[in-house]
Amino acid sequence: SVCAPLPVLGRDVRVPLVTGGEVDYAALDYAASAPALQRVWDDVAAYAPYYGSVHRGAGYLSQLSTDLFENSRRTIAEFLGCGDEEQVVFTRSTTDSLNLLASVLPQDTRVFVFETEHHASLLPWEQRADTTVTYLNAPRTPQQAVDTLEKALAERDPYGPALVCVTGASNVTGELWPVRELAAAAHAHGARIVLDAAQLVPHQPVNIAELDVDWVAFSGHKLYAPFGAGVLAGRADWLQSAAPYLAGGGASRKVSRRTDGGVDVEWHTTAARHEAGSPNVIGAYAIASACQALTEAGFEDLAAREQALITRVREGLAEVPEVNLLSLFGEDAARVGVFSFVVEGWNSSHFAAALSAEYGIGVRDGLFCAHPLVRTLLGSEPQDPGECGAPEAAPGERSLNAIRVSVGVGTPDEHVDRFLRAVK
Ligand code: PMP
Repeated sequence: SVCAPLPVLGRDVRVPLVTGGEVDYAALDYAASAPALQRVWDDVAAYAPYYGSVHRGAGYLSQLSTDLFENSRRTIAEFLGCGDEEQVVFTRSTTDSLNLLASVLPQDTRVFVFETEHHASLLPWEQRADTTVTYLNAPRTPQQAVDTLEKALAERDPYGPALVCVTGASNVTGELWPVRELAAAAHAHGARIVLDAAQLVPHQPVNIAELDVDWVAFSGHKLYAPFGAGVLAGRADWLQSAAPYLAGGGASRKVSRRTDGGVDVEWHTTAARHEAGSPNVIGAYAIASACQALTEAGFEDLAAREQALITRVREGLAEVPEVNLLSLFGEDAARVGVFSFVVEGWNSSHFAAALSAEYGIGVRDGLFCAHPLVRTLLGSEPQDPGECGAPEAAPGERSLNAIRVSVGVGTPDEHVDRFLRAVK
């Protein structure tokens, strides 16, 4: 049996159609930002009257808010299977988490990253002047990904620090990457590995110990918790020994003037080291609430329902010969409910605009902040696309960008059926 969709906000929002009348909005863009779970919203609303400063007050509400913030950290640590040597740092987003990790890399770290990554996991590393980044070519099978990484790692100086960055599920193709195997390859060659779990954590349990990765990064807003927080969780050592990502109150344990007139700072060695400033307690609590809600609903049941939706999308799109699904690993690849495609004879931006205007369906068009990957998949050169944007092409011209449809725990069958009717 397949469970019902979980209650999410926005299911009763009605939007106007150009053809007249209105329909309930079909949110099929979970991969960009998922709607809030009703449970997350209720938890946040119940806490809101008790909101107070975290780590910065003696009053009752301040104590309560501090407890909520630190308990949220513990809930998330448990959800991710963190051990004693690991920390959960609250950030703004996956992008922020990966930039934080880039900032704590030891001097002269070699970074290995596939060109197929989202810009958030592709670009932070070169911001450090001392890192050397090796960009690995797009593999066409999961095994090729492992072989490509093995070969690149084998050619490096085995004594210096090295980091592999890999995505768990592609935000373009929805395909799963062989994270365990890549982690094993990284560790066999003395490298560490960070998992960009932005698109994985809403669909599958992500356990640091089971996957044997060193860090995991993800965003609340893709995990049904859209309150401006993200997470970087994993090994404490590099986090503890590097300079703070942000300098300021909360990150410093002791600040004193030196006799020469300067200032000495003792920084915290806990996650607080990288969390200077008043924390986003609602964002942290919302993520913890979402982790609990998904765990209680049961990832197995949720995955069974999602696989049913995936089959519905695949079979429906297969009936339209003009639709070309974008894929690196081919039809049999394990996947989550994220699909990108182009339609022969259509400009993708016009197609996506028509889905919205004529059917009340929200999808994403463009290059999905993964320009090298989309370029490889389309076999074309996007022209001046702008960051994450959609290059203009005249109607009828070959697509320079694509359309992405994505589903999640709140998606009813009817939204998928409406989408398939519209495409047909
Ligand atoms: N990585 C992947 C795989 C993503 O899909 C996204 C969001 N599209 C990000 C990183 C960046 O997430 P955020 O915009 O929340 O920082």
